[in-house]
Amino acid sequence: MRIRRKIWPRTFSDLLSMAFVLIIAPLMYWFGLWIVLPGLYDDESPVYIFHFALGSFIMLNIVGNFTYTVLCDTSTDGCIVPVSKATAADGWRLCATCECLAPPRSWHCNVCDTCILKRDHHCVFTGCCVGYYNHRYFVMFLWYLFLGAAYAFCYGSLFIWNRIPFEFPMSIVKMVFPVAIFFFGFDSSMDQFYLLLYVVSAVGTLYTAVLCIYHFSLIFRGIVGNESNKKDFTYDMGWKDNIREVFGERWYLTWLLPYIKSQLPHDGISWQHLCSKTD
Ligand SMILES: [Zn+2]
Ligand SMILES: [Zn+2]
Repeated sequence: MRIRRKIWPRTFSDLLSMAFVLIIAPLMYWFGLWIVLPGLYDDESPVYIFHFALGSFIMLNIVGNFTYTVLCDTSTDGCIVPVSKATAADGWRLCATCECLAPPRSWHCNVCDTCILKRDHHCVFTGCCVGYYNHRYFVMFLWYLFLGAAYAFCYGSLFIWNRIPFEFPMSIVKMVFPVAIFFFGFDSSMDQFYLLLYVVSAVGTLYTAVLCIYHFSLIFRGIVGNESNKKDFTYDMGWKDNIREVFGERWYLTWLLPYIKSQLPHDGISWQHLCSKTD
């Protein structure tokens, strides 16, 4: 894996979004395993240990896949080909900003200031582009965020409503404006802070579920964001090969941990062979 050199967020919105994830994910982990879990189960019971291990496994995957997404260099740097070869192959284009020829499916990102191989989109939460080499890590990051948020929401529901009596309309107000209620001192109790985290888990579950459905549907159809907008299905190889294009030869193991190696079938540069198969 090539390591990206400039990993720090380049815009204010990237910085804010990245900081949000880096603060909220550990907070959720703490809330789930140190507050909710001991509140529901005996701390040496098998069910406690099971949930503690499962929660830690989800957190490890969130942190690991986030790190790999950020560190992985998926730009076109170092893959410039001689003009004669490039012009002979269809789909190569001149990037006016990089002042070099860029391969098919690559796209220039103004934030990252480079062309990205098989560019999907620029992700504000990781402060980098998602492309050929880090697509797997990004999607797994998203998937485990969804699992973590849904897990926190389910057990958070049991915990919160056992602890806080539901009072109409105040409970509704506290749930709709949890940040304002807590930070402006209307109710700075720990219970209100737990309610705030619970609301974040509910919103996080919905948000990441929508993103998961969107990104998995793109992967199954063998397209990236830009191609989806243009309805360009040139590189759709059927769902099995499309999965391999993102998760590699050992795709069935990639959900376990980001550290598991899974060789991608191509180099992200030459796509001509896929075009000819679909002709
Ligand atoms: Zn470029
Ligand atoms: Zn970018």
